[in-house]
Amino acid sequence: MTPPALFDHFQRQISYLRVSVTDRCDLRCVYCMPERMEFLPKTDVLSFEELDRLCAVFVEAGVRKLRITGGEPLVRRDIMAFMRRQARHLESGQLDELTLTTNGTRLASFASDLVTIGVKRINVSLDTLDAETFKRITRRDQLNAVLAGIEAARSAGLRVKLNVVALKNDNLRDIPSIIQWAHARGMDVSLIETMPLGDVEGDRTDQFAPLDSVRAELESFWRLNDLPDSTGGPSRYVRIEETGGRLGFITPFSHNFCADCNRVRLTCTGRLYLCLGQDEHIDFRERMRNGASDAHLLELMVEGMSNKPKAHDFRMASSVPAVHRHMSMTGG
Ligand code: SAM
Ligand code: SF4
Repeated sequence: MTPPALFDHFQRQISYLRVSVTDRCDLRCVYCMPERMEFLPKTDVLSFEELDRLCAVFVEAGVRKLRITGGEPLVRRDIMAFMRRQARHLESGQLDELTLTTNGTRLASFASDLVTIGVKRINVSLDTLDAETFKRITRRDQLNAVLAGIEAARSAGLRVKLNVVALKNDNLRDIPSIIQWAHARGMDVSLIETMPLGDVEGDRTDQFAPLDSVRAELESFWRLNDLPDSTGGPSRYVRIEETGGRLGFITPFSHNFCADCNRVRLTCTGRLYLCLGQDEHIDFRERMRNGASDAHLLELMVEGMSNKPKAHDFRMASSVPAVHRHMSMTGG
């Protein structure tokens, strides 16, 4: 029997699933959530058994890459047991990659376990190396914990990519030093434009910095050579001649690369969003809790995929978010 595969209406094969395992977090990044974030009631959030079941059906449906994210995935109790369960799909050869996006605050405790279960590389979010700026952006004094986490990950043998959100009036001055610091340690960097997801207290147009201008600034002192690599995402890469390292630009606003999009996102409440910037989704939670079989879930995935929108429709309209759910729910 031919295994099922997930294709959308535009002949894009969906092989990459991002799973948010919690909406909770120990930081409060200004572009992601307000200080007084209202978290979901526990009963709304899928149990690890429910998440595990859905992931297994997705793998059955042809997903080859699984990224665990959040909120902050490493704050959920028993996260490592869940990760270990997912590693069975690596062992069976059905999954090419199991990976994680984390803010790094608890990474020091988990790095070697991640390596043991077969995780090879992770993304860590770090917007600045300056303790005061870190405190302002994340509203918490945790830079040292994150740096220790990154060090532990590297020593354990994980490849680390840094995600840096570019914020006007905030960390733009720090970007060259983060790049230099990361490249000197063999880490790639991706710069990210802020996206209007969820209410964050304040005006997003204040935060938005187009990466075209960040790139122009970097090109005033470094040579940036375009690379052909694409991960099926909104990232385009260059190699910086002087540092020898790779730099990605994730630019949902100024350019969109929806035509190559190979990914979908599962929230911690069991909703599958077909596009980060649109509201189309499939709700698995109630169906699962009402006794749907795996075969039915698989059917829903295959059919639902045809609704994946052609492209997102982000517009930066002052404080009004384009999409009302926070990134911490959908997963970055
Ligand atoms: N807590 C983990 C972390 O920060 O890496 C994982 C979840 S976080 C939602 C995933 C990524 O989304 C992070 O790199 C973060 O910087 C990014 N992010 C959050 N809100 C964003 C926004 N409004 N626009 C652009 N990127 C955002
Ligand atoms: Fe937490 Fe990540 Fe959102 Fe920052 S970006 S508040 S670390 S979920």
